[in-house]
Amino acid sequence: MNEAIRVSLISLGCARNLVDSEVLLGHAVEEGLQVVENAEDADVVVVNTCGFIETAKQESIDTILSVARLKQEGNLKGVIAVGCLAQRYGEELGKSIPELDAVFGLSDYSGVPNVVRKIVNGSTKRWVATVDGGKPKGPRSDKKRVLLTPKSFAYLRISEGCDHKCTFCAIPQMRGRNRSKPIDVLVEEAQQLAAAGVQELVVVAEDTTAYGLDVDRKRRIHELLEKLGDVDGIRWIRLMYAYPHTVAPELTTFLREHPKAVKYLDIPIQHISSPMLKAMKRGVSDTQVRGILDRLRDEVPGIAVRTTLITGFPGEGEQDFAALRDLVTGYRFERLGVFPYSHEESTPAFEMPEQIDQEVAEARAAELMELQREVMGRFQRGFVGKTLPVLVDGYDPEAKRLVGRTYADAPEVDCHVLLPKGAAEPGTFVDAEITAADDYELTGRPLRAKQA
Ligand code: SF4
Repeated sequence: MNEAIRVSLISLGCARNLVDSEVLLGHAVEEGLQVVENAEDADVVVVNTCGFIETAKQESIDTILSVARLKQEGNLKGVIAVGCLAQRYGEELGKSIPELDAVFGLSDYSGVPNVVRKIVNGSTKRWVATVDGGKPKGPRSDKKRVLLTPKSFAYLRISEGCDHKCTFCAIPQMRGRNRSKPIDVLVEEAQQLAAAGVQELVVVAEDTTAYGLDVDRKRRIHELLEKLGDVDGIRWIRLMYAYPHTVAPELTTFLREHPKAVKYLDIPIQHISSPMLKAMKRGVSDTQVRGILDRLRDEVPGIAVRTTLITGFPGEGEQDFAALRDLVTGYRFERLGVFPYSHEESTPAFEMPEQIDQEVAEARAAELMELQREVMGRFQRGFVGKTLPVLVDGYDPEAKRLVGRTYADAPEVDCHVLLPKGAAEPGTFVDAEITAADDYELTGRPLRAKQA
């Protein structure tokens, strides 16, 4: 009997790309391939690349090259690159890395298993920048997934692409215009995830607050969240990637009142000085952004707000940077990510005058994160002595403890809580008294497991 062909996947980049990886593996399983965790144990390795910023692009290329070495050593029969970098630079990748057997841009990847099979069966053809990878994504493309996240949570991608024209960003060039998935399809996906034991839905898109706009020019994110709230088994609904243009009162009402809403919002603002917001073509003024941030505090008491900021954007003067410093120390975001501007070719900002030295951009980012350390430290210490529901994600063999998250922690980007080994089953909630806090980590003493 023929042994199953073994495929391994390395997923790089953002949560949206991770969903693509899960869908690709869903097709692989459906087509009878065996999914293995380690590249060393595979016949073919698929690298799902990221093409967003320079560092991510370099990481993708380094990963492909390290897998290609496995092939040269004879352990591997094939290497395939998919994802955003492949979408953006398919031809170049194929030319510059001859070890690649196939390079596929973004699609539903339903055609990849067949190509894997052909490679293993000795086909010498190279599939470079062709559409063999699958059909253009449709509303139901994300249905069959092999989850790569701990079963405690799963990402729910509610739309694909983006209509904004931020001058530093290449994502619309790779993922196209905003396309919302129908509510009934997303409810079905959520029901499937709940049936698999998922407790938390982490709702993602390029801009979640634009959900529905492409259908009938109406923002329907709050309607979708209400529907997701009706799905049995789901305990937490967390909203990421809101855009600081329109946060409707219906959305803050959901965050404030719905029993499954996590009092948390990720809303990347990127900058706060008006000249920078204008140069970035964010389509919002500093007053508008501040208005939304203040409304979140007023309309959703106790909310944890996460944002991301870019330092060193072309033309960013001392005054612009001072505005960022004041915002970080003044607004006191519970969670913050700061990124030095990445000089991205084929984006409008690439050609802008007054480019800032990379060292300056990095120094400014480090300075903001140092200010944030004090803000976060005080917020974290505020938990000591309090009892919080903690969602247990899994066991950390290095820390020899269970790792979980509070309402203020989105997976993979924020902080976590350490709990004693055996305190609870991964994928369950436990009420924990917080006994210690440092800048990025809490320690908890489990009081009791939270009933479903
Ligand atoms: S909102 Fe702006 S930064 Fe975000 S994906 Fe769209 S264009 Fe890029």
